[in-house]
Order: sequence, then C-alpha cells, then structure tokens
Amino acid sequence: LPVIRAQSSHDYVPDSKFYKVEAILRPWRVSQVSSALLKIGIRGVTVSDVRGFGAQGGSTERHGGSEFTEDNFVAKVKMEIVVSKDQVEAVVDKIIEEARTGEIGDGKIFVVPVSDVIRIRTGERGERAEKMTGGWSDLSSSAA
Ligand code: ATP
Ligand code: GLN
Repeated sequence: LPVIRAQSSHDYVPDSKFYKVEAILRPWRVSQVSSALLKIGIRGVTVSDVRGFGAQGGSTERHGGSEFTEDNFVAKVKMEIVVSKDQVEAVVDKIIEEARTGEIGDGKIFVVPVSDVIRIRTGERGERAEKMTGGWSDLSSSAA
C-alpha cells in the first residue's frame, strides 16, 4: 500500500496549545494504531465503541453484511488523543499509516482545539497536566 500523508496543514484554527485528535477507525485496526502510537511515546489514549454512518454506511459496496448492524450503522472505534500542537501532524500521519486500507470505510480524523488539561490527582493544569511521564517529551529529551 503506498504511503499517504495528510496534506500539510499547520494552521489549525483557532490556535491552541493542545488539540484533540479524534479518529474514527475500523475496530480491527485499533490495536495496530495504538501500539504504533505507543512506540512514538503517545501513551494517553481513550477509545470508545461507536456506531457510525458515512460513505460506507450509505453505499452498497462489497462488505457482505458482517460489518453492518441491522440499522446499517457500522461498528467503529473512536480514538481520542490529546497532544500538544507540535505533535498533531505526527499523530495524524501515524494513524493514517496504520489504519489505512484504501477501501471505503477507513474512517476520518478530526482535529479539535482543547482549552485546558487538568490532572485530577494533583490539580495541575496545562502543559504540566498534558505531559505524560515516559511519553513523547521524555523520549525526545533523553534522545537529545
Ligand atoms: P495520574 O494521576 O498520574 O494522571 P491517572 O490514572 O489519573 O494517573 P492517566 O492514566 O494518565 O491518569 O489517564 C487516565 C485516563 O485518561 C486514561 O486511561 C485515558 O483514557 C485518558 N487520557 C489520559 N491522557 C490522555 C490524553 N492525552 N488523550 C486522551 N486520553 C487521555
Ligand atoms: N504530549 C504528551 C507528552 O509529550 C503526550 C500526550 C499523549 O500521550 N497523548 O508527554
């Protein structure tokens, strides 16, 4: 499968320190995506089972029923990953790399500004709350 990159877009509007990368994925690709993210130090990830309707749900292409529920909504997994602005493109490209089959139904990614992050245990906010011990920032600072 040829490598596809997200067409470059660093001008997220509105500007924010943090963004949520929200990806709607095929359930059977989720573990592949999350382990690839873990390898680049993305340790904070939330997933939910969802059902959706899009091009795949409306079309009559060849998936012989098994991916569809009775009402034609397709079982998907929503993966939510809050990262700092400079990590967004890498996360997006990694998700594309691991989730893409090239067939209708590969899913979609939304990038959403996040106003603040609060760690409940400590009350920390912002960068201190968003940073994960042993995560991306720690990996890149120990490599330098
Ligand atoms: P601590 O008190 O050290 O923060 P904790 O258990 O309260 O520990 P985490 O384990 O870091 O907090 O996170 C709790 C849950 O929040 C995770 O299981 C995950 O679902 C979600 N989560 C944490 N960080 C992120 C993130 N950056 N993006 C998306 N989801 C996250
Ligand atoms: N930005 C965090 C860090 O660099 C990682 C965030 C995440 O794992 N979702 O530690």
